[in-house]
Amino acid sequence: AERILVEKLFELKEKGRGKRIAFLSDLITGALPDLVRRWLQTMGAPEPLLYEPLAYEPLRQANQLVFGLDGIPTYHLDQADFLLSFGANFLETWISNVQCARQFASFRTPRAEGKSVFIYIGPRLSLTAANADHWIPVSPENTSLVAWGLLRMLLEKNLPLSFSRPQMEALKARVGEITPEVIEAKAGVSRTMMNSLTQKFAQAKNPLILAEGLSCSEAQATETAIAANLLCTLLPGTRRTLNLDDPSALGKVVRAEKMKELTENMLRGEVDLLVIHQANPLFTLPPAWNLKKALQTVPWVVSFSSFRDETSQFAHLILPTPTFLESWGDFSPRQKVRALMQPVMGPLFNTRHLGDILLSTGRKLMGAENFPANHFYETLRQSWRQAGKQEFPRDSDEGFWEHSLRKGGVWDERKENFSKPLVSRSADFSFPRVSLRVSEPKENSFHFITYPAIQFFDGRSANRPFLQELPDPMTQITWGGWIEINPETAAKLEIKKDDLITLKSAHGTWQAPAYPYLGIPPDVLAMPLGQGHSGFGQFADSRSDNPAQGISPQIDPSSGGIVWATPGVTVQKAGRSLALANTDGSLYQHGRRLAQAVSWQKYRQSAGQKPPIVLPLPQGFTKRDDFYSPHPHSEYRWVMIVDLDRCIGCGACVVACYAENNVAVVGREQVLFGREMSWLH
Ligand code: SF4
Repeated sequence: AERILVEKLFELKEKGRGKRIAFLSDLITGALPDLVRRWLQTMGAPEPLLYEPLAYEPLRQANQLVFGLDGIPTYHLDQADFLLSFGANFLETWISNVQCARQFASFRTPRAEGKSVFIYIGPRLSLTAANADHWIPVSPENTSLVAWGLLRMLLEKNLPLSFSRPQMEALKARVGEITPEVIEAKAGVSRTMMNSLTQKFAQAKNPLILAEGLSCSEAQATETAIAANLLCTLLPGTRRTLNLDDPSALGKVVRAEKMKELTENMLRGEVDLLVIHQANPLFTLPPAWNLKKALQTVPWVVSFSSFRDETSQFAHLILPTPTFLESWGDFSPRQKVRALMQPVMGPLFNTRHLGDILLSTGRKLMGAENFPANHFYETLRQSWRQAGKQEFPRDSDEGFWEHSLRKGGVWDERKENFSKPLVSRSADFSFPRVSLRVSEPKENSFHFITYPAIQFFDGRSANRPFLQELPDPMTQITWGGWIEINPETAAKLEIKKDDLITLKSAHGTWQAPAYPYLGIPPDVLAMPLGQGHSGFGQFADSRSDNPAQGISPQIDPSSGGIVWATPGVTVQKAGRSLALANTDGSLYQHGRRLAQAVSWQKYRQSAGQKPPIVLPLPQGFTKRDDFYSPHPHSEYRWVMIVDLDRCIGCGACVVACYAENNVAVVGREQVLFGREMSWLH
């Protein structure tokens, strides 16, 4: 395969057609992109396109407009005492969910002055919303209205705001119409609720306001993100919760408009060779762009994918690369963090690292003087040697490498400088006018929203059986997609759980079983992203449709991104059913008091007292039911305690239990029989 690739590259180089090579990869950082760029330069090819389906275009655009940052800052949730999220599911998949979950545990730790407050505003009760003190359901077309309305109410308060007079005037002109009455009438959020929100915000020392910035749960994501950013700039304390000097690597990925441009170039026959590394755009780009035809138009498509997927099916040549578990590498999730990746196992199959192939083909085409390293490992070492010389000049090469390996990488641990304001007082605040659009409710017309699933993200991990079997944290569904519908709406349309329903937008149709869900407003339908594969292996394929089938081909002019949220979607029963393999028997406790709660106030009153523990515990244990033989420690009993202030319900421990204890994956049919093995959920 490598010989064929070299022949093709040689031919293109000889004909001076290097410019007609396109290189598409998922987000790569560290030493690999430098090598890719060098390889492309010597071929005379353009820069690589780093593609992620969820590129946060609206958030990046809002950051550019308000903070002057064309990227995504680092958030410090642990420094906040009031957190407000406009649809940002930071405990699931948003930007850096593991970092956010860790910070959230700290945010949730009770302090002397009580617990910090978290409020979530958005159309769906997500896992993140379920962790909030209060979820305010708002229809997808009204989230931005509430965000700007809150800004208006805060501007009217006598707060020590950090804006200049012209900025205040520009903002007041923008939000003048969005009175609490308008919000109540259009968004259904009461005046009392808005007042309480304003009060909580104004009392906070370090408030942090987040916005989804993805257009998954609302079409006006840029507007909402601008308002959220402006709210962040209101009080000086927010400065501690946002670091603009340490932006996320996600800011390096291309906006969707670039992918559209590439597809059009391919369709016009302007690309002679397309190299794809670990990206599966055919699964996530709007079908109306016709990427499938574009892939068939390109004379040579070369895939460096670890798995067969929808896009690699159209490749003329596949050079499979090992997974990150089998390879050396490095990754820099944000500017001040550089992590080293070591292989934890040898390669399982006959694969080669992309870096090794670039070096080997580069040497054959351009000579060893251009590509002196034999293996990517040497390139990686060289890159770290240089970094060590710059950042730790006193350490020896070997010492720095050993230290970095032991620690897992290097990161800047110096205290951040919070003195710089988030916006300059001379910044232009003439943002686009906030529209007060609210469509008239129509018979059988719904807002459709999608969300990246915690198990599969954008679909890239749907081929892992562990994750297919992991019950979804909110619905407990395994092995397949579903469409969430409000129970009232379902009753009106005579739709029951498991009924297969067909959704239709102006751009396509898609199907999945219905799941009546209280956490969704009556005029909204939701479906997780990630299922509906057709060429991603036996565990991923044919598990309901892909919600990307119905998305609009139009690029959002305000951000250059795709708008996933779709209005005007109709529902029809398909006339048959497909049982959802969900693992929960019931949403209720039926008086068994399995999960008990105590109010914070009551807990504080009883702090210091130790209520006697009676063994065996009155609930949950009886000798008769115990299937272990009696043990001699009458006063002790091993228990597992999960701190529900810190546990967010992500389910990672369920997967860890599968891996650690070699728990069998049983599959959809056995789960339907009630034989699921994920007892810990
Ligand atoms: S205990 Fe389990 S579900 Fe809870 S946060 Fe930890 S890994 Fe996630």
